[in-house]
Amino acid sequence: MNNKTKTPKEQSSPMPKKPDVSGSKGRECSDKNCPIHGSLKLRGRTFTERVVSAKSHRTATIEIERRHYIPKYERYEKRKTRLQVHNPDCINAKEGDVVKVQECRPISKTKHFVIIKK
Ligand SMILES: [Zn+2]
Repeated sequence: MNNKTKTPKEQSSPMPKKPDVSGSKGRECSDKNCPIHGSLKLRGRTFTERVVSAKSHRTATIEIERRHYIPKYERYEKRKTRLQVHNPDCINAKEGDVVKVQECRPISKTKHFVIIKK
């Protein structure tokens, strides 16, 4: 009676190699006030305007041109409004870029808009 049952102790299941994720995702955005990676909720108005200054850290200034009607001359006058907007790390808009901004909660004393697209 040859009851020779072989029980393999080692299971040789080939482990699928994990793809190297380092570097494939790019730079991670650590900005809490980022509309894509952070927890910032967007609401309100949107504008598509040009960046006139992006010197401050995570802050850009955009210029909104609007027309102001003057009844005396029955003409429109061009008026500009400068608006401080939040410039998240992952968007990093430069001076001269046309960006889309959306209203959000006040991020700082002067900022209550954030860039959502370049
Ligand atoms: Zn981001």
